[in-house]
Amino acid sequence: MKVYIIGTGPGDPELITLKAARIIGLCDVLVYDDLIPHAILALGREDAFRIYAGKRGGKPHKNQDEINMLLADLAKKGYSIARLKGGDPFVFGRGGEEALFLSENNIDFEIIPGITSAIAAPMYAGIPPTHRSISSSLHIVTAHEDPLKTDSFLDWSLLAKDKGTLVFLMGASRIASIADSLIKNGMDVTTPCALVQDATGSRQRHIISILKDVGQAGIAHGITSPCVMIVGHVVNLSKTLYKERQLPLKGKNILVTRPQTLAWSTSRLFSSLGANVFVYPLIDIVEIAFDIPDMSAYDMFIFTSQNAVRVFLEKIYSCDIDARTFSGKELWAIGPKTRDALKRYGLLADGMAGVFSAEGIVEQLKKRDLKKMNICIPRAKGARPYLVDSLKKMGANVDELSVYETRLPPHADKGGFADVLSKVDTVIFTSPSGVKNAFKILGDDIKPLVDKKTLVAIGPVTGTCMEDLGITSYIQANTYTDSGIVDSLKGYKN
Ligand code: SAH
Repeated sequence: MKVYIIGTGPGDPELITLKAARIIGLCDVLVYDDLIPHAILALGREDAFRIYAGKRGGKPHKNQDEINMLLADLAKKGYSIARLKGGDPFVFGRGGEEALFLSENNIDFEIIPGITSAIAAPMYAGIPPTHRSISSSLHIVTAHEDPLKTDSFLDWSLLAKDKGTLVFLMGASRIASIADSLIKNGMDVTTPCALVQDATGSRQRHIISILKDVGQAGIAHGITSPCVMIVGHVVNLSKTLYKERQLPLKGKNILVTRPQTLAWSTSRLFSSLGANVFVYPLIDIVEIAFDIPDMSAYDMFIFTSQNAVRVFLEKIYSCDIDARTFSGKELWAIGPKTRDALKRYGLLADGMAGVFSAEGIVEQLKKRDLKKMNICIPRAKGARPYLVDSLKKMGANVDELSVYETRLPPHADKGGFADVLSKVDTVIFTSPSGVKNAFKILGDDIKPLVDKKTLVAIGPVTGTCMEDLGITSYIQANTYTDSGIVDSLKGYKN
């Protein structure tokens, strides 16, 4: 089929292009490098294969030939492949080599550019790579290689004379030797330099120095990879142009365990507030075959999740029935996300629970006379009986329609889940089935793994489930939404 060689941007997941995001959502397989944010992998289909092809973290890694072969094999088997690379795929990303290999093997491919760290890193430190009257050229240099190597492609004497901006992409261990090579070749030792680490991501930091001191400064401030070094007078603009953003979730490493389809919006919200987000879905949503009920028989529909809205309305619309089928009927949503989901299908909710739970809906409807009302509740199989029982007690005729069920995601495994847990300090649980599945995957081993971490339950039902399984120390959002979770985490110290 086709290989899409995609640049996913420098770190902040929102810096991906719309085109890349769309294509990732369509592909069968994602083959990804180091530094690809989890939130971007979460853009892929739930059932897409995810293959790590990076070189970090002590995992066994593939060399470039193996990666080329892997891409070709997958394409020949008929899969569509998203080959995900940090920054831009053709800026020191070896995307060109992969494209050449695919071309030689007559495999269809397409390149989708990304924002390179060579531009984004200076920019996020308040340094314009070029600036009128200060620098009219930009030189992007890879300094992964040892600058003292005799067969280097780099001409240090030319670089040292450059009047524009030099941006080095390299490992943090190279900082001092780059500075040395420039000084030895005659560059002024007071030339301003900046080091930007983890640019655009939640852990971004930068320091400003001058050429003769930058090596020491990097060590003193503990600058680690990935980092970019910028050399040139544009660096002086950082003082004025860099604005530290006060982000409420800065420094937190948060694990989102929602189903893949919902994980992107949640992780985008958390990362826009400064968190470093990991995604490990603990539930999959699986649609159940159901017949569309006789819509005219109902006076009211109650939706208790975004999934219920999506599955029910997709089915209705796929049968060439449109929103008019709800004309004259009352629509209720459990909370703002469900209300917004209805809106996306052209339907405005008439009512919403005050507290976003089944209890909240019952509380609101208590004020009403429900006798002889016919109510349909499309929802998850095996959901709590509370809502249906309570409405029946209030005199309503209630039909529950199971439109989806939740299951353990097929890719979830003990090693993978334990690994991601070891990287985070905060874990968000958004449903009782997510909590149960966490225990299913890890058994009682989960307890030491989550000890000392901040565990967050989106609401009381999830919280009670955690308690039932022996987790008593957790915080619970006051409003049962993503923003409610953010509020509960603001200012909360681990
Ligand atoms: N294709 C990538 C570069 C790959 S080479 C791009 O266009 O950005 C890898 C190097 O890029 C790293 O060693 C580091 O120097 C730089 N880099 C990538 N992401 C970075 C980030 N978020 N912050 C700082 N440097 C980064």
